[in-house]
Amino acid sequence: METGCNMLLLECPYCGVKAEETELSPGYEAHLKRFGPGSSDEEFEAYMFARKNPKGVHFERWRHSYGCGKWFLAARCTATLEVFGTYPAQVGEPPADIIEKIKARRPDWKGYK
Ligand SMILES: [Zn+2]
Repeated sequence: METGCNMLLLECPYCGVKAEETELSPGYEAHLKRFGPGSSDEEFEAYMFARKNPKGVHFERWRHSYGCGKWFLAARCTATLEVFGTYPAQVGEPPADIIEKIKARRPDWKGYK
């Protein structure tokens, strides 16, 4: 829903608080595939340095720093600040209901990978 407000507001999935950006710390891109010892230089470099910075749908890590202190993930549009949903950081892939919501709102979206 378009509120006409430019402030980012994310609901913490742990404590249910709708937190303003000033209460949160950004943790950059979510769902990164981790590479460690034994991986190729290219894989490790991509893991360390390559980050998507799309104008549109993006999955990010956020920490509710001035609340419960926990990390969570958020799906939002970087262009409009529309938030599609938030979910616990331990979840390996975006929940189906959030994927469906994004597909409904952004029919041309290519998926999160
Ligand atoms: Zn919280």
